[in-house]
Amino acid sequence: KYLSSKVARQRFLDYFINENNYNFIRSSPVVPFYDDTVPFVNAGMNQFKGIFLGTQEARFEKVVNTQKCIRVGGKHNDLDDVGLDGYHHTFFEMLGNWSFGQCSKKESCSLAWKLLTDGFKINKNALYVTYFGGDEAMELEPDLECKDVWQSLGVPEDRILPFGMKENFWEMGASGPCGPCTEIHFDHRGLVNRKEFVNKGLHELIELWNIVFIEYNRDSEGKISSLPHKHVDTGMGFERLVAILQGKVSNYETDVFKTLFTGIQKISGKVPAYKNLYGEKDWDQLNTSYRILSDHARMITACLADGVIPEQNAKLRKIMRRSFAISENMFKKEQGLLKELSNYVIESLGTVYPEMQNNFIQIHQIIDFEEDIYKSLRRNAASDWLKISKDYPALANLDVIEMPGLVHAFKEITNSNLTEITPEFGCKLFDTYGLDEPCIKKLSVGLELEFDEVRFRNEFDAVKRRSKLTSVTDGNLIDFKQMGKSTDDRYKYMYGKVDGKY
Ligand code: ATP
Ligand code: MG
Ligand code: MG
Ligand code: MG
Repeated sequence: KYLSSKVARQRFLDYFINENNYNFIRSSPVVPFYDDTVPFVNAGMNQFKGIFLGTQEARFEKVVNTQKCIRVGGKHNDLDDVGLDGYHHTFFEMLGNWSFGQCSKKESCSLAWKLLTDGFKINKNALYVTYFGGDEAMELEPDLECKDVWQSLGVPEDRILPFGMKENFWEMGASGPCGPCTEIHFDHRGLVNRKEFVNKGLHELIELWNIVFIEYNRDSEGKISSLPHKHVDTGMGFERLVAILQGKVSNYETDVFKTLFTGIQKISGKVPAYKNLYGEKDWDQLNTSYRILSDHARMITACLADGVIPEQNAKLRKIMRRSFAISENMFKKEQGLLKELSNYVIESLGTVYPEMQNNFIQIHQIIDFEEDIYKSLRRNAASDWLKISKDYPALANLDVIEMPGLVHAFKEITNSNLTEITPEFGCKLFDTYGLDEPCIKKLSVGLELEFDEVRFRNEFDAVKRRSKLTSVTDGNLIDFKQMGKSTDDRYKYMYGKVDGKY
């Protein structure tokens, strides 16, 4: 029997609110309040960080919510997977429940297990669970209590598997609350024939629900210490749950994404092969573009609805420009596709997250504005580059449309009499002008500059590692205090005035 995503979300909430006395707390915005350890809210627990650390009092002992999450940057960054598998998105909803100040492993595991197997009637034989197997270096013991809990709930021993720090010790960022966790995984092999998994991107076992026992804090030096109280923090991927409930292996085949696919098709006239999802065709460029664009439209709409603006947030701007490029190159839409898609996103999520409905004019305005900037950037870059390549014919083959930053990079190099693109300067070209390695290489050849790719790559990796450790925020946190709470206030903050129309 078909269960819509809307009903599934509501059932999750009802189960905790009506049957188990949990209190509903609404989703926080997608950027954190006053927390520069993460670039975006990456889990439901972010807004409760203060409670875990003991600096803030819990309003309720037990709460449930559906949180708008974004995993682009910082410790949890899934951007490179988006479009290439069926279950990692830049923006997704995390269904979660919390129990503050106490830690009954039995209760939290059994609540989750009952909801999945009784409430949603998910086949027990398709579920696996994992628990924390300990870590010698960190001097952390295996969580055998958790293992026992699963056994007592009737999970067969061979489906209770221990894993180490990477899989089963959850951390919010490079610092912050953390602890051992136990995860529920779903085995899709029962759903479809095994041979259908041979294509890239389909995975047999997909993590569905993570139950974290928050007991520690990791400080900015990386040291772990015990928290004053223990807490339960859970998070389930909403789109993954819906895929299971609707009998699909890929989240993109559920009603969550289908409306967006329909929208892209209606607007662009390009027909996807998604009916043939497991065929070779599914991973062709057009279908991958369908997935990426529908994913990005959700992320962009969510950001803009919450007052994140591309001018201040390089990650958002990059994802917007990538979406404009896909609209032009793959869907042959010069203008307006992303804006039109934001309406489909608002249509499907606007009742759950009213800020999307309330701020739709602002969302449209900023998309239009950014699209214009993108276009003029491309136009100017193309004509500038034509002039430049008259003097430097070897540079003519560089794609300035893909990388409009080339023009500025060229100017900076020719103005400064360099003889070499050092690894450090190469990193700057990447960071500031968005040039990738092959592009830097071609530029160095065209300008007859030295460029050592191996040294560049080493430096690049080191920089990436460092930025991961310090979890960069681009310095683009929104000061909500200054911005104010109402849409009027935010609008004023962003544009300097309240502009009548919305
Ligand atoms: P995975 O191992 O699949 O990357 P994770 O361990 O990074 O997931 P958690 O941090 O445990 O994820 O988050 C809790 C739940 O949120 C996951 O069990 C999963 O269902 C969901 N989830 C995590 N990342 C994504 C994403 N990028 N897109 C959609 N759902 C996600
Ligand atoms: Mg992950
Ligand atoms: Mg995982
Ligand atoms: Mg996990």
